[in-house]
Amino acid sequence: MTSNLSNQLSSQQLRSLPKVDLHRHLDCSMRWSTLLEIATALKLDFPQNPQKQQAHFLVTEPMVNLEAVLNKFLIAQKVLASEEILERLAFEACEDAFNDGVRILELRYAPTFISDGHTKLTFEKIHQAFLRGIKRAKIQMPMAVGLICILQRVLTNDRLDAVTKFAIENKSTLLAVDLADNEENAEPKRFAPYFEAARNAGLRVTIHTGEAPNAKAGQWILDAIHILGAERIGHGVQAIHFPEVMKTLIEKNIPLEVCPYSNYLTQAFDNYESHPLKRLIDAGVPVTLNSDDPGMFASTLSDDYLIAHQHQKLSFIDFYKCNETAYKHSFISEAEKSRVWSR
Ligand SMILES: [Zn+2]
Repeated sequence: MTSNLSNQLSSQQLRSLPKVDLHRHLDCSMRWSTLLEIATALKLDFPQNPQKQQAHFLVTEPMVNLEAVLNKFLIAQKVLASEEILERLAFEACEDAFNDGVRILELRYAPTFISDGHTKLTFEKIHQAFLRGIKRAKIQMPMAVGLICILQRVLTNDRLDAVTKFAIENKSTLLAVDLADNEENAEPKRFAPYFEAARNAGLRVTIHTGEAPNAKAGQWILDAIHILGAERIGHGVQAIHFPEVMKTLIEKNIPLEVCPYSNYLTQAFDNYESHPLKRLIDAGVPVTLNSDDPGMFASTLSDDYLIAHQHQKLSFIDFYKCNETAYKHSFISEAEKSRVWSR
């Protein structure tokens, strides 16, 4: 990466910047050394040549599309095999984020993604294991951490119902519900009853939408807001192609959870220069910067900041504003987040 910016920030400066991350998948945040250790202990079948190992488990270069990336996650699903592993994953995900400057962290996971690979792990066991890991991390590190429950678009209605019930039963230890996976052939209306039930129980709503290029992306973003009650949009970067969508985001003050490196790897945009991050900010759309799947991408949130700085010319002031927006729109309580954030 090259740049001729006069006020260039170093990666170390970006790392030490206090940051808020609202969009990070806990089930895709395993530390690389831990992943290898566990894959070995579980006797999983994987290449013994160290150079081929990352290519086997991780996404480290652009894939053909979002679907290809989602398929890759199924390989890493195999290591999420016990409550002990999940507790360790949660602790280390917090520790890695903290060491990268993150002070306010919202972690999301799909209970069905984990339990599908490991039938002994009930939603309840998964959730409690994650809570134990987070609790341990918060004792050792001054950070605010909250959990979001993901409903996968691929689920049948029965399973959507089960996940929604689980989320509502655990609303005291969950911030919000989210909808994720490929949007093609997954009309938002089908999910409306589940999100209505969650909202009525007091859970907040963020929705993955408008991530991959699609003629319907603008409508999907509007549907997420109007039909599902989204207060934040996961990705939503395709809004750049739909002026009326950008207008709605601005008027309703709904921020995008933008993840530049992830968008590059899923080929939502061809390269860092064509990413709409700066254009969205200049248009007045509320924008936050997030990491998405740091484990699967062998990346950190600071890497997203570096891309934004070097290729989109985001300045220190831009980062400050993104973090203020993220702070304001974080679903974590004011009491908890204000304790770890000096304004
Ligand atoms: Zn995501």
